[in-house]
Amino acid sequence: MLDLKHPQTKWIFDAAHEGDAILGFAKLMTLLPPQRQQLLPRVARPIERLRRLNREHFDASSFIERAISDLEAGCKSIASLPSTESRLDGRGPCPVCGSAIKHLPEYYDMTYCGHCLKTIADARERLASSEGFGTSAI
Ligand SMILES: [Zn+2]
Repeated sequence: MLDLKHPQTKWIFDAAHEGDAILGFAKLMTLLPPQRQQLLPRVARPIERLRRLNREHFDASSFIERAISDLEAGCKSIASLPSTESRLDGRGPCPVCGSAIKHLPEYYDMTYCGHCLKTIADARERLASSEGFGTSAI
């Protein structure tokens, strides 16, 4: 249970916000091959904000820094997936891995290739853990 009066709470919420932004960009990158590389600079901003949060409010945790670096590398890996076909409409299998595209059109961020997105799942789990930013409590 998150203690809203705890001094770290604001930073935990900030980290969750940045993590959500990165996840949103990563989801888009699984769908938009022509724009993947263009999205990377936009991923770099929330990655840098996570690093700043770690330096300034989480005692520059090496566990967190490793997870951030792995998340960054995973996003770069997704951005480099070999494909030229967009799946922004949610139709058809993923041209990279052949998996079905998760497509819930009533939600703005629920169209993506879940299989390709697994590239960043482990780093995201570590960041959300109690040893990371502890965002799993939110
Ligand atoms: Zn895929």
